[in-house]
Amino acid sequence: MDFSLSPTAQELQGKLLAFMDDFVYPNEAVAHRQIVESGDPHHFPEVMDDLKAEARRQGLWNLFLPHKTQWTDGLSNLDYAPLAEIMGRSHIASQATNCAAPDTGNMEILTTFGTPEQQERWLQPLLEGEIRSAFAMTEPAVASSDATNIECRIRRDGDDYVINGRKWWISGTADARCQVFILMGKTDPEAPRHLQQSMILVPRDTPGVNVLRAMPVFGYQHQEGHCEIDFADVRVPATNILGEEGGGFAIAQARLGPGRIHHCMRTIGAAERALELMCRRVTSRVAFGKPLAEQGVIQEWIADSRMDIEQARLLTLKAAWLMDTVGNKGARIEISAIKVLVPNMALRVIDRAIQAHGAMGVCDDVPLASMYAGIRTLRLADGPDEVHRMQVARRELRRYESAASSPA
Ligand SMILES: Cc1cc2nc3c(=O)[nH]c(=O)nc-3n(C[C@H](O)[C@H](O)[C@H](O)COP(=O)(O)OP(=O)(O)OC[C@H]3O[C@@H](n4cnc5c(N)ncnc54)[C@H](O)[C@@H]3O)c2cc1C
Repeated sequence: MDFSLSPTAQELQGKLLAFMDDFVYPNEAVAHRQIVESGDPHHFPEVMDDLKAEARRQGLWNLFLPHKTQWTDGLSNLDYAPLAEIMGRSHIASQATNCAAPDTGNMEILTTFGTPEQQERWLQPLLEGEIRSAFAMTEPAVASSDATNIECRIRRDGDDYVINGRKWWISGTADARCQVFILMGKTDPEAPRHLQQSMILVPRDTPGVNVLRAMPVFGYQHQEGHCEIDFADVRVPATNILGEEGGGFAIAQARLGPGRIHHCMRTIGAAERALELMCRRVTSRVAFGKPLAEQGVIQEWIADSRMDIEQARLLTLKAAWLMDTVGNKGARIEISAIKVLVPNMALRVIDRAIQAHGAMGVCDDVPLASMYAGIRTLRLADGPDEVHRMQVARRELRRYESAASSPA
């Protein structure tokens, strides 16, 4: 395995680190204040437009796209990994560089499966950072970790499709700039299990799209919002279907691979920041006559955190390298493994950092509490830990299937 960065990625890394120091970190508090002062937790902070303009000017824009297209030269997953990690250190960096979920996954779908008309209408403004998008799959009525359960109905009616169903936890919907959903639902409930679902583009302003509420995460209302939405007789042209009718499950698999690894890369960056905050705090805080850093238990937390992060990063880089060399399918077990391992690792690191900060760790004077809440959701979103563990265990057990009747 060769984890060395290309010269392009090295150059981008240097630029991104400087962009974080000069523009991102100093504006975290500004963005927060603008949201609070507006009185609307989903208010788009004005400073974000300045950050986006600056990122674009510096060529730090749409770095996530892995393919060479008319819009970008594309970076390999291995080259993107350290860049996403840097962005993951701040909750505003990914949006500033137009590399934020769920738009990244949606842009990938549109790049790979969109028709020229769909790309012009939706992909182009997304790549320009003018609009945002959401991905609507999960439903309150069914266990959505099993995507074959999705019930939302997409029924053909002449030249249109008519959509009926309830979705929830649809990230990005509360942002006023969110203009389109990629919705997953059933076009043919009688078809074989993995061919029942399709994906379709639903403009947000279509009659019958009713946003009911934004769900809080451990009491936090995220700016982009995770919403419950009722789709009641929502009529869209048949040309809004993505790929082929019945191809929704295949597209979902293609989307979630890169999306998951991006989450992991960013999460490693968050863990690095938590460790840095912990180290700074314990070297300056004195208890029982000496800096906290001189306590053996604190040194153990620091050492364990460093070792945890390094292991998780190596496995993430291996997954990225496999995606680049044998394709997303060939890397799917490693992707499942890091999807479990990285958030759990980061939660351990952040929890130690919170403890080392004392009471300060649980308030918003440091980003640890909101980081913890955000990353805890990654043990559920894009598939709960248990489902990914099931995939890893199945591959492991497969090696013994033929040996079952012939003990060693
Ligand atoms: C902050 C946040 C943002 C989200 N954003 C989006 C979004 O933008 N779009 C979207 O469509 N969805 C989104 N989701 C939803 C998320 O993807 C689902 O919650 C997730 O897929 C799990 O589905 P579920 O909630 O229906 O859990 P269920 O399917 O009901 O599962 C419940 C629990 O059952 C257990 N379980 C399930 N299967 C197994 C198994 N095989 N073995 C053992 N145990 C098992 C797990 O512990 C699991 O947590 C988001 C969720 C959160 C929290």
